[in-house]
Amino acid sequence: MREVKSENSWYYEVSKCAPQQALRDLERAFKNFLTIPKCGFPVFKKKGKKDSFYLEGSIHILRGNYIKLPRIGIVKTYEILPSVPVKNVRISKRAGDWYISFKYDECQPKPLTKKRTIIGVDVGINALATCSDGTTYGNVKAYKQAKKRLSRYQRRVQKKEPGSKNRAKAVKKLAKTHKKVADIRVDALHKLTTWLAKNHSTIVIEDLNVSGMLKNHKLASAIADCGFYEFKRQLTYKCECYESQLVIAPRFYPSSQICSRCGHQQKMPLHERTYNCANCGFQADRDFNAAVNLENYVNK
Ligand SMILES: [Zn+2]
Repeated sequence: MREVKSENSWYYEVSKCAPQQALRDLERAFKNFLTIPKCGFPVFKKKGKKDSFYLEGSIHILRGNYIKLPRIGIVKTYEILPSVPVKNVRISKRAGDWYISFKYDECQPKPLTKKRTIIGVDVGINALATCSDGTTYGNVKAYKQAKKRLSRYQRRVQKKEPGSKNRAKAVKKLAKTHKKVADIRVDALHKLTTWLAKNHSTIVIEDLNVSGMLKNHKLASAIADCGFYEFKRQLTYKCECYESQLVIAPRFYPSSQICSRCGHQQKMPLHERTYNCANCGFQADRDFNAAVNLENYVNK
């Protein structure tokens, strides 16, 4: 550490917490690499990509949207901050904007009386989620529009001369749009998972084989957009928070092939959007039928 300090004068300009936390992050990265299968070897950070640093010490929130940080001083924030004690913060930069994040204890929300006991959720291809109570969460429209813009800006970047100021401008615009797309997706997913965890005592989802599905090119975009892993992660912690139970039906449970009325099982190629039961004549939307089967999975 002493060597680094003597060679790099900038070391004295920053809080000592930033490099200390970087070392802790590195330690965790190595631990993950050694203990979690499929977790890759730690890679170097690159300036300009996922820029962030950590601060701790005397941090105070002043008058709602001002926060006092060690070394940096008073910073005004866009959002009103909760007046709580803060131990440490992480500051990050995304698409040219700075963000501050910190943890604080909130008094546990009381478990609410649930609107419905069991709900089955089919996540997927045409809609973000189809639920067994008939609710559907479509893929957000704004997202589609932003995506169109994304490819337009992408083309614009390619037309500009490398290293030019105009290219830098175009890159910034592209980054902002990327961020917007990501934000829309995150927001939709959060709304869905909160609604599920808050209002239902048992939520049944399917264990999707995401990597297997990504190989199917037609499905790739939709699944990648919805982020099944993130969906599961959010549901898991929110269910804990609202004292609900999350049930994950195994991968081989044929939720889309079973008739949710009579239990008959038949092949359902992906292009078939309606379930027509060959046994009892039951007709339903493919995803809705699957959601009801997931709900029934618990009752069996
Ligand atoms: Zn049937």
